[in-house]
Amino acid sequence: MGDLVLRNGHVIDPANGINEVSDVRISEGKIDAVARNLPEQPGDRSIDVSGLYVTPGIIDMHAHVAHTHSRSTLSLHPLVNTLESGVTTTVDAGTCGWRDFDQFRVDVIDASTKIRVLSYVNIVGSGMGGAWEHEAPEMNPQLCADTALMHSDVVVGIKTAHYWAKQRFDANHLPWTAIDRALEAGIRADMPMMVDFCPELPNRPYPTLLEKMRPGDIHTHVFAQQFPIIDDNGKVFEYMYQAREKGIIFDLGHGAGSFWFRNAVPAIQEGFVPDSISTDLHTGNVAGVVIDMLGCMNKVLNIGVSLEEVILRSTVTPAKEINRPELGTLSVGASADVAVFNLEKGDYTFIDCEKTTMQGDKKLVCDMTIFGGDIVYNANWRGHKSWEQDLIDNPTPFHVRTQTQF
Ligand SMILES: [Zn+2]
Repeated sequence: MGDLVLRNGHVIDPANGINEVSDVRISEGKIDAVARNLPEQPGDRSIDVSGLYVTPGIIDMHAHVAHTHSRSTLSLHPLVNTLESGVTTTVDAGTCGWRDFDQFRVDVIDASTKIRVLSYVNIVGSGMGGAWEHEAPEMNPQLCADTALMHSDVVVGIKTAHYWAKQRFDANHLPWTAIDRALEAGIRADMPMMVDFCPELPNRPYPTLLEKMRPGDIHTHVFAQQFPIIDDNGKVFEYMYQAREKGIIFDLGHGAGSFWFRNAVPAIQEGFVPDSISTDLHTGNVAGVVIDMLGCMNKVLNIGVSLEEVILRSTVTPAKEINRPELGTLSVGASADVAVFNLEKGDYTFIDCEKTTMQGDKKLVCDMTIFGGDIVYNANWRGHKSWEQDLIDNPTPFHVRTQTQF
């Protein structure tokens, strides 16, 4: 097979400051060249993508894809609603913990061939999905760190979530147990912590969480209703900017209940754009308010963020947050993970987790997804010849072929 060349697309590659019409040459699974009018080479398979945007493969840094037997009530198969969004890397946000991570790795991570799967390890041994998530003895920083380090080629951090959000604190359920132990695991493994959190006054205020977090730690679900993001005057609280200044990362993490326009729109329009855009896709929201990565990106785009920024926050910044800077870029030598989008104009309605709507006038639609140089999604079958042409090229009917031709 010769090289695959995407011709005349509008390339947006924020890592390299490219935002212009260009060609992209893919050779042996890697990006070989990005430049205008690349010369034809023998054996080239050129695909014309005029009028379309060409970007690095999208990274969804918060999803739930631990589709093993024990986790199937929560998690989706990694190929559900990903390739159709240009996603080439999906990151499981701690569905499994230090007890069941080995099985997840065998069943899902190592078995995935059309998409890259990376993961956080939950501080809770048996991961998400039951009453055990609230029990301190399940949260073992050393075993969690050991698991993360044993699988450091695919693990990107430590996750804490769901801890004691709806009951009164007691001697066995202190306010900060899950955060403190996840932090300790993160320190021992030298990896970031991703936090899903529920503040409570006066015992567990949100600003205290931001003080506890280290630079590089990630607060996901930033626009959920339970977070005091916007003050009475409709402005973003100063401590949000101070936390960002310190290096705390804010991830969108849409989820079934964590993206509210009443928080997102004023914050984003003031300039507080989430560092990364992610879905928190799982069985409970795939057919609801999230659907896919493009759904989340299109909401941010229609709130008023530029297309280049939306791509940046779906490629470069998540790659940095998961400490995989070689991803999310079309740099020469990088894995040829590429997305091709059409930007449609029209009247569109978007929905949040309160089921309130927002109107918009543009929508990215995925045309093609390429993973490691292989076309894994091709909505309009670009690069294929017509059946009429095939009849001209191969006129002999199949049924008259002789054995010698097989
Ligand atoms: Zn999640």
